Amino acid sequence: MPGRREFLRSLAVGALVSAAPRLAGCATPDSTGTMNPPYPLSDHFDGRVFRNPRQHVNRGWGDVLRWKLKADPVPWPESVPVTPTDPLRGPLAVTAVGHASFVVDLGGTVLLTDPVWSDRVSPVSWYGPKRVQAPGVSFARLPRIDAILLSHDHYDHCDLPTLQRLAAGGVRRVITPLANGDLLRDAGFAREAIVELDWWQSTALPGGVEVTVTPAQHWSNRATGVRNARLWGGFMVRSGARSFFFAGDTAANDSLFSEIRSRAGEPDLAAIPIGAYEPRWFMAGQHCNPSEAVTVHRLLGARRSVGMHWGTFQLTDEGRDEPVHALARALSENGLEPHVFSALEAGTGLIA
Ligand SMILES: [Zn+2]
Repeated sequence: MPGRREFLRSLAVGALVSAAPRLAGCATPDSTGTMNPPYPLSDHFDGRVFRNPRQHVNRGWGDVLRWKLKADPVPWPESVPVTPTDPLRGPLAVTAVGHASFVVDLGGTVLLTDPVWSDRVSPVSWYGPKRVQAPGVSFARLPRIDAILLSHDHYDHCDLPTLQRLAAGGVRRVITPLANGDLLRDAGFAREAIVELDWWQSTALPGGVEVTVTPAQHWSNRATGVRNARLWGGFMVRSGARSFFFAGDTAANDSLFSEIRSRAGEPDLAAIPIGAYEPRWFMAGQHCNPSEAVTVHRLLGARRSVGMHWGTFQLTDEGRDEPVHALARALSENGLEPHVFSALEAGTGLIA
């Protein structure tokens, strides 16, 4: 369990970096001197920051303090064995690298979601949540990646050292919600490689693959900059008759996932977060728990789902394996077979 002294040290790091100036989402003056917002105004963008139109919860340092001073997190093991595998190939195949990182093969087009190969997910390399399980796919064994799908700017999803390796390794396309492009340019991707999309906008990849950015109920922030200055989201990916949905980080929300189903269709396979959910009073507005993840699976009409966002980095108070057990209970309570929604361990995968 992290000690109080360690926690106070984390607050000091956070306070230090939060004092740095804003970097993203700046308005620009037009020829008449009027300030233009950088993106179209919408129910989720007010000209300066993004928000969840259905329900938006901002948690501040006071809430973090309230959580951490009373927290009694279940200790995680220092390390968990993994047997790295080569990514599965198939008409629709996913291989779990760990946390929210998957190699996805959709009809020969290979995608990489929220790639993280670093040991820590933090603004600094010497402090912050540390990996307990090595990546389930060796970086050196990655196939040619056609595109990266980057859901939002949080460190456990947007890992600049990994993105730098991928940019240097020749990946030529990254698809991400609005305003995340600055991070990708910092990582070394060329401007033309970066496709920033608003919710419901789509882009085509070679091979007849269409990627649509979908809403999620979440938020964004890095050590520097303004909170919620970059948009968050998920992705619906279609290739012919096959489809894959990546939820990103999200809270449960019935109308949100019903709308994704009605506008983007029912996926053959969905990756849905099942971890980092305790305590609920703090986390329910940003991360779903396994029971809610099963509801999301049903609302989407997914044929099968895989559970992500558990078992790699301890971010919250639940035990490392509790999401797996809670998912099994929720499936049973909903009369669903275990194979319909599997919590994939790193280094395993499935062909849907
Ligand atoms: Zn997040």
